[in-house]
Amino acid sequence: MVKLVKATSCPEYRSTDIRRRSEYVRKVKVLYGVETLVVTQYCCRQCQTTFTDGIEGVKKGCKIADEVKRKAIDIYLEGPDLEEVMKRLSEDLRV
Ligand SMILES: [Zn+2]
Repeated sequence: MVKLVKATSCPEYRSTDIRRRSEYVRKVKVLYGVETLVVTQYCCRQCQTTFTDGIEGVKKGCKIADEVKRKAIDIYLEGPDLEEVMKRLSEDLRV
């Protein structure tokens, strides 16, 4: 599962004096589909750092949820070759 984690303070000095800058849509590949999340970008009024909401279950800047990566590793450890891993993943993801 992935979950949007709203940013409430600047990651640098924990200032809560932040300003919303923009919103954008992030698509994340999860098991059984694609999750669409609206992420807000903020700017800190104190130190001008820009940052965004976080997404739980997804590495920063990554389009694939950790659960999908774990699944790929699980399948891989069962022994099929890479082609089989891709095939089984695409079946699970229904892409
Ligand atoms: Zn700041």
